[in-house]
Amino acid sequence: MTRTYVITGAASGIGKKTAEILRERGDKVIGVDLKGVEVSGDLSSAEGRKTAAAEATALAGGTVDAVIACAGLAAPKAITAAVNYFGMTEFLDAMQPALAAAESPRVALISSMASMQPVAEPLVDAFLSDDEEAAMAIARELEKDPSTGQAIYSSSKRAISRWVRREAPTARWAGAGIPLNAVAPGTVVTPMTKDLLSSAEGSKLVDAMVPMPLNSHQGPESIANLLIWLTSVENSHCCGQTIYCDGGADVVLRGDDIWSWNEEGIRAKFTELYATLQD
Ligand code: NAD
Repeated sequence: MTRTYVITGAASGIGKKTAEILRERGDKVIGVDLKGVEVSGDLSSAEGRKTAAAEATALAGGTVDAVIACAGLAAPKAITAAVNYFGMTEFLDAMQPALAAAESPRVALISSMASMQPVAEPLVDAFLSDDEEAAMAIARELEKDPSTGQAIYSSSKRAISRWVRREAPTARWAGAGIPLNAVAPGTVVTPMTKDLLSSAEGSKLVDAMVPMPLNSHQGPESIANLLIWLTSVENSHCCGQTIYCDGGADVVLRGDDIWSWNEEGIRAKFTELYATLQD
């Protein structure tokens, strides 16, 4: 059965490749981007997000089977905060009614390996408080210095992965039968990374920050195919995950133990649970 997908950032890179694969197999794709696709819209503003979501919903006839949010910027500029965080969360929120009307609705977003890099905590907090005015004020301060400006991107991606974990199990998403998950790519060869990867020094820096022992840099199809699976009918139970598709960068950087961080909390919870069972 063919499905209707709305894909942001569909004019370039990962979003474009995802749209191509889906169209080739017969699905309907409504692209959203600044230009060159079905819906021209600017996801850096609240008005742009609202209008783009309304247009995409109308083109789909009111029911959307899946939304894949790819649109993003990597520049150490304040606008990156607006597009990467609110351009995903607010757009998805506006698409929720059209998704809830579908039989097997699904959502996938793109986070990044950069979510593990140093962040600006106040910016992450402002994102997660849904306070765009505060987030933009902090981002404008950070962009004044290139060394702090880098944290705008990592903060936006850390916040997106945390938003997905926070929102996915709620009544609005899981309760409406909508799996919400993210993909964290390693270094993907797209227009976003072209300049950086074109010099030996740039490549060396990227590889030090994102070590990829499995097959090195990836093409956009590796991420596109994972986004397509996450938004397929077959994905019935992945909920709130950020899936690292990164040639091994996550395991190299974080090591084998990502479970012990809350050992005490988990032990206390289970001790209480076992005590209840013995009553
Ligand atoms: P890309 O630059 O090829 O594509 C990004 C798309 O987003 C472009 O078509 C652009 O026009 C669109 N966009 C930017 N600002 C917009 C706005 N205000 N409104 C609407 N659309 C806008 O980049 P890509 O590599 O395909 O990146 C896609 C996603 O993957 C991004 O969220 C990026 O952060 C993430 N990502 C990329 C890499 C990588 O190595 N390329 C790694 C990790 C995560």
